[in-house]
This record gives sequence, structure tokens and C-alpha cells, in this order.
Amino acid sequence: MDKLIKLERQYCARNYHPLPVVLHKGQGVWLWDVDGKRYLDMMSAYSAVSFGHSHPALVAALTEQAQLLAVPSRAFYSDRLGPFLELLCETTGMAKALPMNTGAEAVETALKAARKWGYKVKGIPDGRAEIVVCKGNFAGRTTTIVGFSSEPQYRDGFGPYAPGFVSVPFGDAAALEAAITPHTAAFLVEPIQGEGGIIVPPAGYLAACREICSRHDVLLICDEVQTGLGRTGHLLACQHDGIKPDGLVLGKALGGGLLPVSAFLARHDVMNVFNPGDHGSTFGGNPLAAAVGTAALRLLQEERLAERARAMGSRLLEGLRALRHPAIRAVRGRGLLIGLELDPALLPARLFCERLMVAGILSKETHDTVVRFAPPLVIGPEEIDLALATIGSTLEAAAPMQAPRAADHMIV
Ligand SMILES: *Cc1c(COP(=O)(O)O)cnc(C)c1O
Repeated sequence: MDKLIKLERQYCARNYHPLPVVLHKGQGVWLWDVDGKRYLDMMSAYSAVSFGHSHPALVAALTEQAQLLAVPSRAFYSDRLGPFLELLCETTGMAKALPMNTGAEAVETALKAARKWGYKVKGIPDGRAEIVVCKGNFAGRTTTIVGFSSEPQYRDGFGPYAPGFVSVPFGDAAALEAAITPHTAAFLVEPIQGEGGIIVPPAGYLAACREICSRHDVLLICDEVQTGLGRTGHLLACQHDGIKPDGLVLGKALGGGLLPVSAFLARHDVMNVFNPGDHGSTFGGNPLAAAVGTAALRLLQEERLAERARAMGSRLLEGLRALRHPAIRAVRGRGLLIGLELDPALLPARLFCERLMVAGILSKETHDTVVRFAPPLVIGPEEIDLALATIGSTLEAAAPMQAPRAADHMIV
């Protein structure tokens, strides 16, 4: 294990700080390291592995398609892309889709679509389009995207930043309205901020944003790369507010945990700004991605994973809320996207993740203070209860000095 960690550290750029575990195998909600130790995956590769590791239906779709045709490029039509995007559009209620690979690329696609729509349809003077974003956002790591991040580390050393972005507090619809000008093309928002720390906005926030955007002829674009496809207990997290966005960004789970598959979806008049040659991707929408994406969307419906996320999510959320420990500041989330916020003075989130790893649970901190619990949506009640028991006992053991009284200490 140490040897492999050293090797990766020697040859791989140090742009991550992984937990010291070397994984070898995955099956469903379980992961195994090179020594054969088993872990419960409460991380799902940042919500990309919603169907569990190596789901047989997805692996079958991948291998069958790989043997037939994988990457012909979009210089030609394929028999896989049309049916995939038809299913994707019908599932999400959007008119058209533009397939990409990573989430960041699909967000970039959304930004390009919004700007061009602003100029060609809304009539914004050329070069003046503005896009409103939220403080605490996460939309990927490209130079444009980090330019509108409010996280100093994501930006530091990567300027100059692209102009044309205006930032408002997340969860504050009045601030959005105040930031809108005649040059505003779009508002880009995550229904729940994932990397920002699993931040759930006040009830009705997105509905208010929907009304404001419609009134000002501003596109409402939901970045559901992390919250989409059942994760929060609805197919899309924006359905909690009963709204439909003008543009939608999907990624992560769309690739079934096997491949990078993303898409920007939109109304006709938005997507129709793209002409041949305006935008593209060598791998975007390839038959392999389309076959896996199709199988993933089918599984989502067949296994009713949004409902499962809702049921298992409330079991996990309630269990976490019942834990008593002085380091717990907050427990929040929706469906199976849950954050446990800790007081870093009592228990740093990274340290807690390391302790959980030893106890057989893999998760990862976000922002030093929040531990994310986002297992594959196929997780069952016994595994949730096992996770709760392990989290409880690990918490108890982690900071015995701060424990107030044994009596109100731990409910497992
Ligand atoms: C992960 C994420 C992205 C970026 O996806 P990548 O595939 O890592 O480029 C974009 N938006 C949100 C909300 C995300 O969580």
C-alpha cells in the first residue's frame, strides 16, 4: 500500500490530497483496498457512482458497445446518440441536448449558449453579456469557471479571469433581482451547493428565481451535475421547488460511474443558437457514452432510484441528527446528498474522514468543516444503519476529551 502511494505521489501531480487508502475493487456500495479490506462507499466518486460500482447492466452496456463501436466522432451520425438524447430529453422534460464529457465542459457549453442567446435572441449589445452566479458556487475547474468562483484557492495563480460574471449570495432571490441589468443573459445556479458544503437554500428560493428570470427575460440555468438524476430524492433537485429551468447541466451520474458523460439541455430557442462549427467535442456523445448513458437512465427509472434516495436519505439524515456530539455543528441535505458540519477546533473534518476510513467508511471532507455522506443510491437500510453505527462510534472515539457526559453522548 505504502509503495503504491509513494509511486502515485512521485509521478502524479499533487492536485489532490487523497486519504491514504489504495483501492483495487468495487462492487455495489462496497470498495476493497489492495490488502482486501472492505469499505462502505459514502462518497460515490463525488456523486458520480449513483448506481453503485460495476453495476452489471451498465458493465454489460459498456462492454457490448465497446466491442461494436466506441468512438467514431460526430463527423458522422451514430445509431446510439439519437435514442440516448431522446430518452434524456423525455426524462428531463427539456427540448434539446448537447452532449459533452465532463461536467465542466457542459457548464462551459451552457455559458456559451447563454451568451450567444443573449446576443442573437435577447438583443444584448455584442461583448456586453453578463451572467449572474452565486457565491460559494462550484462548476468545475476550467479557467473561465474558476474565474467566477468565490473560493480563493480555486482562483489563486490562475488569472486573468474571464469578465462578464456577477456574483450574488446563494439563497437570496432579492439579490439576484438587484443584480440583473438589461445585459443579463442568464443566472447559473446549483439547486443545492454541493462542493460549497451541501448548502440547501431556503424553501421557495428557486421558485422565486424562476419568476424573476422569466420577468426579466433571463435564462435560468440549473447546474445539476451533482444534484441531478435522483440524488436528492427527485429526478432533478429543481423539482423540489416545482420549477423547470431554461437550461440544465447534467454530468457525473449520467456516465453510470463508468465514463465521463455530460450534457447541456435547453429550450429550442436557446439550443438553436448553435450552428455547425460553433462548438464541439471529439468524444462528446460517442456511442460508448451514449450506450452507457441510456442504460443509466433506464436503471434510474427501473430501480426507482429517486424514491430510494428519498427514503434512504431521510433514514440517514434522521440518524445523523440523532447523534449527540459537541463537535457537530449542523446536519443538512436532501435525499442522499448530506453534509455533517463539524467544529474544526474540536474535530477537523479531514481527521474525522481518516478515522472513518480506519473504521471502514470512505468519505471526504469539503472545506475543512463538512463531511459529505453521499453513498450510491442503491444503498439499502441495513447499510445505512451500519454507516450510522460506525459514524456514531467513530465520533465518540474521536474526541473523548470534549464529550460532555456519557449519558447524552451517543445514540447509535
Ligand atoms: C462536479 C461538478 C461539476 C464539474 O464536473 P467535472 O466532471 O468534475 O468537470 C460542475 N458542477 C457541479 C455542481 C459539480 O458538482
